Amino acid sequence: MTGAASRPRRAASAPSRRDLAASARRALRVHEILLAAYGEPVWRNPLPAIDELVSTILSQNTSDTNRDRAFEALLAKFPAWEAVRDAPAAAVIEAIRPAGLANQKGPRLQQVLRAITAERGALDLEFLKDWPVDEARAWLTKFNGVGPKTAAIVLLFSLGRPAFPVDTHVHRVTGRLGLRRPEMSADDCHAYFEALLPPETYYAAHLNLIRHGREVCHARSPECERCVLKRMCNYYRTQKKGEKVS
Ligand code: SF4
Repeated sequence: MTGAASRPRRAASAPSRRDLAASARRALRVHEILLAAYGEPVWRNPLPAIDELVSTILSQNTSDTNRDRAFEALLAKFPAWEAVRDAPAAAVIEAIRPAGLANQKGPRLQQVLRAITAERGALDLEFLKDWPVDEARAWLTKFNGVGPKTAAIVLLFSLGRPAFPVDTHVHRVTGRLGLRRPEMSADDCHAYFEALLPPETYYAAHLNLIRHGREVCHARSPECERCVLKRMCNYYRTQKKGEKVS
């Protein structure tokens, strides 16, 4: 066979190159609008990568405040991460109680610290600065308890590498805007948005989407009428104005 009939067909659900290009333009426009509204965001003081890894593990399913309380409690109780790694499990669990799920997070944290020590001989992740970002991500996510979001946060904020973390706010806001397919999980979205947006936008786009999710596009009752993105939002057009989105 020759011609079109012999060409492999794209899966029905796979977006075409043209769709991806259109999505990339919309994603960039969203970034520009949020930048105009919120300005260049600044992340809290960058932590050493190993500290950021610990902090991000503690942050799972809790608020920033509780994460910080647990992190400070660990620093106050133990002189170094090696001491956290080698401490009795109960002592670590007790220290991180403010973060919630301490019985899970404590052993998970110690396990990750032990695994990193076993591989590298030290609790130091700075070597990842020199690795290709995909290899660095793969190395981090092989540890139980380190998912794509945790790895991306460490890579972006501590190591200055181009990675796009997707948390619950980023996932929700981009879903409502229609910047991603509805069925994509947060984990699926990391590689997707890294392909869609230029690397130099990751830092600001991530932080401004979080801010927008916290301040305007709340999980319940988003404040669409005052939203700077409403003109390009699928949710607004369908839920608030009753339009059909093609
Ligand atoms: Fe969220 Fe509403 Fe803004 Fe859409 S218009 S991004 S749903 S607040």
